[in-house]
Amino acid sequence: MARKTKTPYKTKWNLNLLYTGLNNPRIERDVRTIEREYDNFAKIYRNKDFTKTPKNLAKALASKEKISQGLSKIDPEFYFSRLLDIESQNEKARALLTKIDERLTEASNKLEFFHLRIANIPKEKHGKYLKASELKPYKYLLENIFRTAKYNLSEKEEQLVSLLGQTSYSMWVDSQEKLLSKQMIKFGKGMIPISKAMSIISELPKAKRIALHKEIIQTLESINHLAEAEINAIVNFKKVMDKRRGFKKPYSATILSYENDEKEVEALVSMITKKFSISHRFYKLHAKLIGEKRITLPDRGAPIGKIKRKFDFANTVEIVRSALGDVDGSYSDILDRYLKNGQIDVYPYKGKQSGGYCAKSGDLPTFILLNHTDDLRSVETLGHEIGHAIHGELAKTQPHRYRGFSTSTAEVASTFFEQVTQSKIEEKLNNEEKIIFLHNKIMGDIATIFRQIALFNFEDELHERIRKEGQLSGIQVAKLLAKHLRSYLGASVEVTDRDGYGFIPWSHIRYFFYVYSYAYGQIVSKALFEMWNENKNTAKKIERFLKAGRSMSPKNIFKSIGINVSDPKFFEFGLKNIEKDIDKLEKLTRKMKFKIA
Ligand SMILES: [Zn+2]
Repeated sequence: MARKTKTPYKTKWNLNLLYTGLNNPRIERDVRTIEREYDNFAKIYRNKDFTKTPKNLAKALASKEKISQGLSKIDPEFYFSRLLDIESQNEKARALLTKIDERLTEASNKLEFFHLRIANIPKEKHGKYLKASELKPYKYLLENIFRTAKYNLSEKEEQLVSLLGQTSYSMWVDSQEKLLSKQMIKFGKGMIPISKAMSIISELPKAKRIALHKEIIQTLESINHLAEAEINAIVNFKKVMDKRRGFKKPYSATILSYENDEKEVEALVSMITKKFSISHRFYKLHAKLIGEKRITLPDRGAPIGKIKRKFDFANTVEIVRSALGDVDGSYSDILDRYLKNGQIDVYPYKGKQSGGYCAKSGDLPTFILLNHTDDLRSVETLGHEIGHAIHGELAKTQPHRYRGFSTSTAEVASTFFEQVTQSKIEEKLNNEEKIIFLHNKIMGDIATIFRQIALFNFEDELHERIRKEGQLSGIQVAKLLAKHLRSYLGASVEVTDRDGYGFIPWSHIRYFFYVYSYAYGQIVSKALFEMWNENKNTAKKIERFLKAGRSMSPKNIFKSIGINVSDPKFFEFGLKNIEKDIDKLEKLTRKMKFKIA
């Protein structure tokens, strides 16, 4: 049944929901409240043996949680960051944020001892603490602390590491990004920033696409010296830290912090790598559809046609609302509430951040940023971001310690709702548009699953080689990336060694192995979608997943709703669905002629 909502909505953020302005005296008061609360807590517990018995520990954890609960509606940094998202030129806000940041980091440093002391509970006592009835509500939290305990350094060392992270990691990455963002690329008769060049390249006609790609690679090569130094510095910094902490493999720290299991992630990576033939098959078909036998790297994202249909924002809201409502009426209510309160900033304008995302903090209102341009992608983006928001809202049913979620479940929620939105969009398309839509959907799956795993393999080899050889030159890194791009693109796509300079603007590889979470999330969410699509009664299970927050490991959350991510067959099944889509596209396009761009 269609719900009719006539509520007028806002298309700009109402940041008054946080503070009435930069001069609001409540900001300073709130910073002081946080400083005071942390300080008091540290004073009480620093010299107390609060881990002596399970009972003592339960008391300390409860009182720590009480503080975070009390502060859950106070977050001045959140306000300043959102303000800067939509007013990037607001220098006054930027300066204030830096100052407040410093004060709050110092304040939270005072609490660093707390988890470290829990982690110091001797290993032979872990069982006793995990079984204690007083600690039952904190069991998974403790398991996590104990699991990571052996990798901790002393309190002083940890503080030093967080300070050195600034000079050995962030400043390198920042200066490299700064240099990159200053690069202008020749385009037509004028010059455009390199980021713009990279974002428009796929949409250009063939000759312009090739010419622009050449310009981009040339520019990247010309600034490769800093990137070479940067990559070697940050990878070596990680090597030193991993060695000190006792992490065996380059990716071990990431998998541990995402609460996944190392063996399972290794199985996922090797299984997908073995199935690169699926993506080879897709690119062969893609090349054929754009009228060629063999394509170059920039052609891999070229469209086979354009969906010209426009989706203005009112129309978009209608589609997404009805998609959410199909899963559960309360989800579309969340969207309506956000629209009414001014929690979604819709259109692009000068000084606003690009892209789309969802920002949350404690019990404060969540904010979604979009750059709606009336195209189909804009509809999918709202579906995706509201998915993150719904996940956050439902996780609020958890006690404070288990709100939020692991990186590896975050994208499951968002891409699930994106798929629900996509199936609504599809209903509105004509047959030719449906073919283009299917092609783009497979292209997206390939990029999220196969490309990210190829990148994981690249990172792994990069770290291993720098660990062994000490240092790699820029062209060596480029060659390595080119090799791994070839591995998933197959023989239909020509990748030159110099194309590998794409490592310079690739920000995700600087998060170290973050990329696998995309592949993981996409395959799990496809399974969720399949389950729900076949039987709408499973919406209750989806709800259980969303409400679980971070109260269990991702593996156990999915297990509780009947999805066994430990079974390699599960991931294989996910890939089979992509193969089925490719079959369908092959069949549908057999007799079609596409205009070659
Ligand atoms: Zn997302």
